[in-house]
This record gives sequence, C-alpha cells and structure tokens, in this order.
Amino acid sequence: MPSSASEPPASQPYDLAVIGAGPAGLAGAVTAAGLGLSVALLDASEHVGGQFYRHPAATLGAVRPEALHHDWAAFAGLRRGLEASGVSHLAGHHVWSVTGQDGDWAVHAVTGSDGGQERPVRVRARALLLATGASERQLPFPGWTLPGVVGAGGAQAMLKSGLVLPGRRVVVAGSGPLLLAVAGSLAAAGARVPAVVEASGYLRYARHPRVLATNPYKLVEAVVHGGALLRHRVRPLPRSAVVAAHGTDRVEAVTVARLDRDWRPVPGSRRRIACDALAVGHGLAPQIDLATALGCATRRTVDATAALVLGDGQETTVSGVWSAGETGGVGGSRLAIVEGELAALAIASRLDGQTELPQSRRAVRLRRGRDRMRAFADAMAAAHAPAPGWTQWLPDDTDVCRCEEVTAGRVREAVTDLGAGDARTVKLLTRAGMGWCQGRMCGAAVACLAARGGGPVPPPAERRPFAVPVTLGALAGLDADAAPGNPTDD
Ligand SMILES: Cc1cc2nc3c(=O)[nH]c(=O)nc-3n(C[C@H](O)[C@H](O)[C@H](O)COP(=O)(O)OP(=O)(O)OC[C@H]3O[C@@H](n4cnc5c(N)ncnc54)[C@H](O)[C@@H]3O)c2cc1C
Repeated sequence: MPSSASEPPASQPYDLAVIGAGPAGLAGAVTAAGLGLSVALLDASEHVGGQFYRHPAATLGAVRPEALHHDWAAFAGLRRGLEASGVSHLAGHHVWSVTGQDGDWAVHAVTGSDGGQERPVRVRARALLLATGASERQLPFPGWTLPGVVGAGGAQAMLKSGLVLPGRRVVVAGSGPLLLAVAGSLAAAGARVPAVVEASGYLRYARHPRVLATNPYKLVEAVVHGGALLRHRVRPLPRSAVVAAHGTDRVEAVTVARLDRDWRPVPGSRRRIACDALAVGHGLAPQIDLATALGCATRRTVDATAALVLGDGQETTVSGVWSAGETGGVGGSRLAIVEGELAALAIASRLDGQTELPQSRRAVRLRRGRDRMRAFADAMAAAHAPAPGWTQWLPDDTDVCRCEEVTAGRVREAVTDLGAGDARTVKLLTRAGMGWCQGRMCGAAVACLAARGGGPVPPPAERRPFAVPVTLGALAGLDADAAPGNPTDD
C-alpha cells in the first residue's frame, strides 16, 4: 500500500476519497492535496490518466508514448503534481460500492480482480469526489457481434495501451468527435482507414457561432484532425452509417447507407466497403453507477444520456458528494481538468466549515472556463445526438443484448404485444440487460426500442448495489465491524 505525507493517522479517515484517476480525478486529487487535504485516489487501472491519457505498460518499451496523444503536456504536469503531492494513489482498486453519509463515507473496493486473488479493501473519507468518466454507447446493427468489430474508443484504447491495431484495413463509424481522433491515430499507426462514417453532419456545429468563437482551441483540434485525415487519405462520409457488417469468422466488409435527417437509411444508397476491422461507437455515456447507487439525481443530456445534476461547485444532490468530468456530461479532457480543480476548491472550503462557494479569483476563473466549455459540450452533443430513425437499420433477428442473446424482435414483441412501456419492463420480460455487462452495451438500444420510435431516450439510471463485478469470496471476506481509517483489509 503506498504511503504518503498527507496520509492521516491509521484510525482517521482521509479528508477526501477521489474515485477515478482520469484528468478530472487527477486534477481534483492534486488540487485538494495542495490545499492541505489528505487524499486517497482510487482507480481500477494500474496507471493514472484515465481514458484519454491511456499509455502503454512500461514492459512494452514504448519510446514516445506521447506521440499518440495531443495535450500530453497537461497530463505530464498533473502526473508531476501527483508525484509531489503526497496523495495516496491506490492503483488497481475496483470500487464496487460507497456507503455512509456526509462526513463519513466508506469506499469499498477489490484489488487483483483481473484473474488474481481478489482482496477487499475499505477506504474511509470525510468527502467524496466521483470522477468515473464515461463509456461508449453502441447502437446495434446486423453483424455487430462479429470478431473484428470493436468499439471506436476501444480501438483507441488498444492502440494507446497495447500498441496494437484492431486490423490492417479499419472502417471507423458511428457518431461524435472521438471518431476523427480514432481514425487519425489508427492511420498514423499504420492502418489503412478507407472511411470515417459519421451519422450526423459536421455543419450542425455552425448553428452555434458564439460557442465556437469562445472555444477557439476546439477549431484548432478540428483542423488538426482534418489535416491528419487528408494526409492519410481517409474519406469522411457524413450523414451515413454502417448498417451491416459481413463475414464468417470475422468481419470482411461493411454496408454503408446514407441517412436522412432522422437517421433513416436512404433507399438505394447502400454500398459495400471491404475491411478487416470496424471501430464503431455512437458517442459516450457518463458512467454514474456509484453516484446513482448513492441517490444522486440525474438529468437527461441533449444527446439522450443520463448525467449527474451538479451545482456551481460541482456538488451532486447528495450532501458530501462532488463529481467532475464526464459524469456530469461528456465534454473532453480539458473540461474534466477544470471541473476537478473546481470541485477540489469547493470541497476544501466545505471541509473548512464554509457554506458559501469559494469566491477567489482562481475559483471565478475556473467557473468561467467550465461554463464556456460546458456550452461547447452541449453544442457538440446536439450536433451528434442520435435521431430515432436508426432503429430502421435494425432487423428483428439481430441480437440487441449480446450477453443474454435477446433479439430486436423479442424486444419489439415485449413492447407491442406485451405492453412494455420502458426498458425496465422489457428487461423483466426478455432478460435484455440482465447479463454480465448489466445493460452497459444494450441499455441505450433497449431504451430506444421501448420508447416505440419516440426516442432516443437514456436508459434508466438504475440503483445497483455493485458498480463492478465482485466475487462471492470477496464479499464473504467483508468484516462489517472493521475500524474506520486508512485503507484496511475488510
Ligand atoms: C473508451 C474511451 C476512449 C476514449 N478515447 C479518447 C481519446 O482518444 N481522445 C479524447 O479526446 N477523448 C477520449 N475519450 C473521452 C475521454 O474519456 C474524456 O475526454 C476524458 O478522459 C474525461 O476524463 P474523466 O476524468 O472525466 O474520465 P476518464 O478519463 O474516463 O477517467 C475515469 C477513470 O475512472 C476509473 N473508474 C471508473 N469507474 C471506476 C470504479 N468503479 N472503480 C475504480 N475506478 C473507476 C477509470 O478506470 C478511469 O481511469 C475516450 C473515452 C472512452 C470511454
């Protein structure tokens, strides 16, 4: 267990437990420690950096891991800050639950769950910062379960952390700005990328000229990505979607169709593109299981995901719980860093007995930056929001829930014949979402189908007792009377 200068005495709780060591959690932990708080930073991963700053294991011997990233300097600064901060970084800690109340939280985690012996750990803290990021949203189509079909973010993760490509000829498809970054990285790493297939149109950003003007670095990013695609001769296909993947043992080709404004395939527009991998994702959805289990309220974002309701100081609706980054709505790493810092200021002030939000120049500057970047995030979400017509590329015999092998036809039957009016009832009638991934893959699609074409709608924010899978052995090892304090073996 790493120890640090800011660790409290063994019988005392930390001032702050931060869950998630991505840009938001890192910024929050480093800032809070700088303000004199004792901080525990827990993450399932062995490395800090989260999804954006994923980097290869040292054993892979990457000479320049920063070559796969933009904004690496921001991460390098945070990592240096962490090393000098005295924060207890608890790597490889999978947090499955948080219990307690304002001033006295218990964070329950298991270590060694990737094939090793699971060990339960409990961390006590006076305040909580949830920075658990986002996961990819998938909208199914025939052939989406074939080997060689991977998530767009997943392909990026394979490249950044494993230095491997999902194939030699990779079509990138779905919706959202991540696709451009993924296509650029894959092409730069040597893959042939015949097309980036985007279901929305990029011109929709032009509806928000003021937001664009106040976030010029986003235009720079777009130019950088556009330049990379031009250099590598990647063809952009806006207002189009992959409506089928073909192959026997693995994907060999995809069918791409043009879409109308409602994302309905345009008749007669289908064409086939040969490939040996497809990287596909329809945006990101906040990962908020720990927060909803605590009762934190959620809101519906403009692109139909559920995000946390947050106050001006990043506080959730549950007293003593703050959140930063993608959990409050997907907005990118720079926004995540600003929110993490802002949350830390608010938490330090609250633990110091202040009831008002901090009004220092730093806090005011951060809030302004946060609001400006959140406005861009909303414009981005509106530009790439799925439209209800996507369900027209989903035939009845396609599996929607791949864990429980529930087809679109069975979900439709539950809605039209059995009267299910929401995703939860569909789940009870069909088992869609009851498998290993607990609806993380199929939740968005099932919610849309349950909305009878009126969607897209976010899947219901469920109050699950387990945010990650835990073995019965680890649960049996829990000792309810373990003393509060530093990380303890429960
Ligand atoms: C698969 C994927 C790939 C992405 N690739 C890019 C990219 O290439 N470029 C880009 O600009 N943006 C990318 N993004 C978006 C990126 O996530 C954000 O812009 C940015 O990283 C948000 O920072 P964050 O701190 O909010 O969340 P994240 O960076 O996602 O960090 C969240 C952290 O929380 C940890 N965590 C979550 N739940 C638990 C738990 N229960 N127990 C312990 N730890 C937990 C995770 O391990 C992770 O380290 C990607 C997103 C995803 C989902």
